[in-house]
Amino acid sequence: MRSIRSDIIASFRERGVRCTSQRYAILEYLLRHPTHPTADEIYRAINRTDPRASLATVYKALHALAEAGLIREVRVGCGAVRFEANTARHHHFVCERCGRMEDLDWFDIPRLPEKAAAGRRKLLGYELILHGLCAHCA
Ligand SMILES: [Zn+2]
Ligand SMILES: [Zn+2]
Repeated sequence: MRSIRSDIIASFRERGVRCTSQRYAILEYLLRHPTHPTADEIYRAINRTDPRASLATVYKALHALAEAGLIREVRVGCGAVRFEANTARHHHFVCERCGRMEDLDWFDIPRLPEKAAAGRRKLLGYELILHGLCAHCA
């Protein structure tokens, strides 16, 4: 079985992105914490092990990782941008009480363009954000 470390190093190599210690730390953190943290939360977590990290360099590293397709940004409403290492297509569930964001396996919505009355618009993609109470809050 491959370790998470060799997986991370291999994915940097596959995408042709330089693996700096900070980029590595961020990707590892996101893989271990599928909680969709904000840049600020990631910064605080990374800083515990690497006190040299600044918020600006964390932002830069997040941008580079997203650009390379190793992580993706998730936006919900006007809240802070969140990040995740799950780059596969999926939907989200957001808890109205604690703000927790969970991944839901992908499922298609048949005939979505017709249902959405998209008309002559060209639909490039979609993903659902379900709102409610998580198992912990319900
Ligand atoms: Zn909750
Ligand atoms: Zn997600």
